[in-house]
Amino acid sequence: MSTAAFLPSASDPGRVGALLVQEVRWEQGRPEPVAGTEREIRADLVLLAMGFTAVADSPLFEQLGVTLTERGAVARDDTWRAEADGVFVAGDAGRGQSLIVWAIAEGRACAAAVDAYLMGETRLPAPVVPTSRPLSA
Ligand SMILES: Cc1cc2nc3c(=O)[nH]c(=O)nc-3n(C[C@H](O)[C@H](O)[C@H](O)COP(=O)(O)OP(=O)(O)OC[C@H]3O[C@@H](n4cnc5c(N)ncnc54)[C@H](O)[C@@H]3O)c2cc1C
Repeated sequence: MSTAAFLPSASDPGRVGALLVQEVRWEQGRPEPVAGTEREIRADLVLLAMGFTAVADSPLFEQLGVTLTERGAVARDDTWRAEADGVFVAGDAGRGQSLIVWAIAEGRACAAAVDAYLMGETRLPAPVVPTSRPLSA
């Protein structure tokens, strides 16, 4: 895995000419650059296909009174609730970068939690909890 920065083209500084990449090592959940692994890769076109990197910066969070985790997700408890009353969080916004199956399962379970919050009880299915993790082989 590597981090990247764009370098401008020598003939047209307004266009990308290369990527500067560096290997990273995961330490305590964070990517740490590995010294001495920097290299350039020539490029005419760069397509970014990044997963969730954090919820988009927005005044909404402060207005609602919710906080973000150090990884940029919305903090939530084990009943899908964010820190503000009546605010629930499911999918990438709460779990961080993940897969569609998790977003679907979390959405269903979160709907059950919202139903219980509004009605006092629920009969909706809750296939996962916020701390559920993939089954390991
Ligand atoms: C490039 C790429 C490839 C991927 N490939 C796969 C794959 O092959 N298989 C797989 O399982 N997963 C894949 N994923 C991950 C998958 O897309 C996500 O895990 C999933 O979409 C998360 O669903 P979600 O509903 O939590 O969030 P999202 O799908 O991100 O939905 C959030 C929605 O909220 C909207 N929104 C944001 N802010 C506001 C606001 N202030 N007001 C109103 N609306 C707002 C956004 O526009 C968006 O429509 C990929 C992700 C990326 C980026």
